[in-house]
Order: sequence, then structure tokens, then C-alpha cells
Amino acid sequence: MPDLTPVADLPPSAAIASRLESLLRDRETVLRELEPRALPTVDPVAYQTAASHRAVIRQLTDALERVAAGTYGLCGRCGEPIAPARLEVLPQASACIGCQSRVDAA
Ligand SMILES: [Zn+2]
Repeated sequence: MPDLTPVADLPPSAAIASRLESLLRDRETVLRELEPRALPTVDPVAYQTAASHRAVIRQLTDALERVAAGTYGLCGRCGEPIAPARLEVLPQASACIGCQSRVDAA
């Protein structure tokens, strides 16, 4: 039985892209429903929620661009591979846990 384990410990990029796209569609659907009332004076909670959905949509879009560019899974700051377990939980992650915690602490 040949060993077909890929070198990188990540799913194939087509699988990653389709997962990112499905997360993106989910977010866009929620955002479309929120947007009519997502105004600070009308519904401040919806406004905040819509803003956080927009931020994640941007991250997902960026992640899809990294898949296309072949740099998905690499930290945008130090260039080291991002832990697969981290990408499992946060597929749009653009920084490794070490760099991200330095950003969060800053
Ligand atoms: Zn890093």
C-alpha cells in the first residue's frame, strides 16, 4: 500500500477553498438579513454584529486569495506554517498563534 500522506499536514486547497467559500456564503446571508436595521440609531446590536460579520467576510476573502496564491496556511508575519489545528478552528487565520498573541497583547 503506497504512502499517500501529503507532505503538508493540510487538506487539499480545493477542500480549503470550498470550506472558506461556504463560511463566506453563511456570513453574507446573515449580513444581508441584518443590514436593513444595522444602523447605530435603529439597532445598535445589529450594527455591531454586522460590523463583526463584515470583518470576518474580509478575512475569509483574504484567505481565499491566499489559497489562490499558494500561501494559505503560512503566517503573514513570520512566514512559518500556521498550526493545522489552529486552521481547523479558524480557517481564515492569517497569523500563527505566536504572532497573533503578540498582536492581541499589543
Ligand atoms: Zn507567525
